[in-house]
Amino acid sequence: MEPNSCVVVGAGISGLLAASELQDAGWRVTVLDKGRGVGGRMATRRVGEGTFDHGAQFFTVRGERFENLVEGWIEAGIVQEWTRGFADADGEPNEDGHPRYRGASGMTSIPKHLARNLDVRTGEQVVQVNVRDGGWGVTCESGITASGAVLLLTAPVPQSLALVESGNFALPGDARSRLEEISYDPCVALMALLDGPGMVPEPGGMQIRGEPLDWISDNQRKGISEVPAITIHAGPEWSREHYDDPAEDLTQAILTFAEEHLGGLGERIVETSIAHWRYSWVTSSNPDPCFVANEDPPLLFAGDAFGPAKVEGAALSGLAAADWLLDRDG
Ligand SMILES: Cc1cc2nc3c(=O)[nH]c(=O)nc-3n(C[C@H](O)[C@H](O)[C@H](O)COP(=O)(O)OP(=O)(O)OC[C@H]3O[C@@H](n4cnc5c(N)ncnc54)[C@H](O)[C@@H]3O)c2cc1C
Repeated sequence: MEPNSCVVVGAGISGLLAASELQDAGWRVTVLDKGRGVGGRMATRRVGEGTFDHGAQFFTVRGERFENLVEGWIEAGIVQEWTRGFADADGEPNEDGHPRYRGASGMTSIPKHLARNLDVRTGEQVVQVNVRDGGWGVTCESGITASGAVLLLTAPVPQSLALVESGNFALPGDARSRLEEISYDPCVALMALLDGPGMVPEPGGMQIRGEPLDWISDNQRKGISEVPAITIHAGPEWSREHYDDPAEDLTQAILTFAEEHLGGLGERIVETSIAHWRYSWVTSSNPDPCFVANEDPPLLFAGDAFGPAKVEGAALSGLAAADWLLDRDG
């Protein structure tokens, strides 16, 4: 097996940052993602003429390492400050002076930027991983294979655990039980194209933080859609209870709940689409910045379930995985 080679499963922010750092250090890195595009939960989607961020809506910056990255992205025109506070559930302004950032053309601007010089293969669902020739061999549903001395798994942890179980490798019991403690909330998201200007108050985002709705944003006011395009996130409890309901029922229910915040919304709808996030927010995380499940051959887990969560936590976790591998090489 070629030394300093790595297969990364997942082209979300954690996998892409890990891959960039390893490639910059001279490694051969292959990134595989089952999605149509890169970004994972930092996804931006088109519905009709509308552009929607339907996963992560914004991100904050707490630590210096992430701050340095974000400054670089702002200079490169990839990221912009969106606001210093969102409207509350009644539409009242609620500024706290703390910057919230967005991708320049939607959240996916950042993963797209990170992926531009990497070997990223999208539309490739990894279905099996095996220890092979002193490293790792992975097989995708399409039949393509990839190999590397190191395997880095950055999918939501239940999905990564299922992958590890698919082949000839037995994860040590203590590692498995620590990883099984990680959990996530689901989120049902509604995207709605409107026939006229959106009704979400400045700055185009309402942080409701409750049930049955958690969040409403206007992607036009946010600055990423040319036409009025509303994203609504249902709360975690409601999403869990109704996750498998038919799309028409989900749409109807969410629009009815939203009337309380945006009266008359129902009459303005041109087109809708529902998105399901089985793993949206981490509810029980692992405090380590990344998780080394096996040292030889190296098998690492990274993503927002490790360390401080959210976009910043996922980014730092990917970097921590790369750091661990580079430090090991001295
Ligand atoms: C609805 C919602 C709202 C959110 N809002 C915010 C917010 O406002 N602010 C914030 O900071 N964070 C927010 N988050 C959380 C944030 O999006 C995540 O913490 C972060 O994007 C996670 O990045 P990641 O790289 O760890 O994982 P992901 O982005 O999930 O990347 C993992 C990738 O693995 C891929 N994958 C999975 N299985 C396989 C397989 N078998 N083969 C190949 N590829 C596979 C997936 O397609 C995915 O692209 C939100 C998330 C959701 C869903």
